[in-house]
Amino acid sequence: MYAVRLFATRRSRFFQRLYRLFEAVIVALDPLFRRIGYERLEAPFAFLERNTKGFLFDCKMCGQCVLSSTGMTCPMNCPKNLRNGPCGGVRGNGNCEVRPWMRCVWVEAWDGAARMPEGLDRIRVVQPPVNRELEGSSSWLRVAREKAAEMREARQSADPSKHMLARAFRKAREIEPAAAPVAFEPDAALSVQWSRQRTSVYDAEAGQEKSVGDKPEEGPVGDKPEEGSIGGKPKKGKEQV
Ligand code: SF4
Repeated sequence: MYAVRLFATRRSRFFQRLYRLFEAVIVALDPLFRRIGYERLEAPFAFLERNTKGFLFDCKMCGQCVLSSTGMTCPMNCPKNLRNGPCGGVRGNGNCEVRPWMRCVWVEAWDGAARMPEGLDRIRVVQPPVNRELEGSSSWLRVAREKAAEMREARQSADPSKHMLARAFRKAREIEPAAAPVAFEPDAALSVQWSRQRTSVYDAEAGQEKSVGDKPEEGPVGDKPEEGSIGGKPKKGKEQV
């Protein structure tokens, strides 16, 4: 419904807060969802989502909801289905070039984003094109599954910096998971690593330090610089034959 959609965009801040609360609840329910089975929950969740978001935002169930990044305005209402907009055809009064009776979806989106904390940063993030295979599926359930999995992975990581490294090298990890592991290292692996460090790098460095500290570089006795000379060279003015 067009009027309700505009109303929701004007209250984007409120709906963002409400959604965050809701998201925290469904992510926390992940253990229960996994026990029931996400596949079984898909149909009832999609039904609930279609009706709730359909009423509030004219949601088209693309399955990859980006409402929080588009000022709580569904970009699928744009006749061109632009995920990054607006296009160059916005009318002078802010209405759509294709449907002159309605406000440009993206003009509304930028207005809504301006009312949300960090909204203008989020709307500037370039969104990928819609994957039509996901149309009709529940974004809510997808978010719960993805975020809960991410949190599980983070919890299993012994060291948060390891997890960050794994995220930074996601592609490398996909191909070779061992290249950026996130799981606990077994003691045996760590002790081997430690002993290698001791016998190679550490010992070599210790040896170097010792040789520098214990053996001052001394040339042969006869090469000692003469008193009054600079750096072993004769003083200026003293002619050498
Ligand atoms: S004017 Fe706005 S709503 Fe209309 S097609 Fe362009 S971006 Fe989409």
